[in-house]
Amino acid sequence: MMLMEKLKVLHVDFAGCEGCNVSIIRAYPKLMNEIDLDISYLRDGSCQYGEYDVALITGGACMNEPRILEELKEIREKARVVVAFGSCASLGGILRFARGGQEPRPDHRNFQPINSVIPVDYSIPGCPPTPQMLQSFFKFFMAGNESRLRLFKVTAG
Ligand code: SF4
Repeated sequence: MMLMEKLKVLHVDFAGCEGCNVSIIRAYPKLMNEIDLDISYLRDGSCQYGEYDVALITGGACMNEPRILEELKEIREKARVVVAFGSCASLGGILRFARGGQEPRPDHRNFQPINSVIPVDYSIPGCPPTPQMLQSFFKFFMAGNESRLRLFKVTAG
């Protein structure tokens, strides 16, 4: 019996909380036979990514940080498919907005969705999305189930 190759998946975390990261880690045990997951949480300014089938991005893009914008562009070049995971990556994030009548911190005012910097193929909504949503996404993706994947598709605005 021919074994299917595992998908090479990169998870990069930008500006957000840990909620999305925890959700991905909780999803992973049921995905480990299908995907190899590399995680990049701590960056030292030198982004040298390999080639990936899927890049999962959590957190919004801080537009004040040229290094982050360059890193996003490199990820777009290296990954066949880019997925915005969670509201911060998909919408710019709850951290952009005032909560409880408070002003957001000044350094939180300029977060944007990652598709304002690079083209994004799919978006998995939620704050955070559940682990089951990510498991479903990969199930549909690996099966090439286009009708179900349409739920996650990012259309040009
Ligand atoms: Fe945290 Fe919600 Fe943003 Fe995910 S979407 S990083 S859980 S604030």
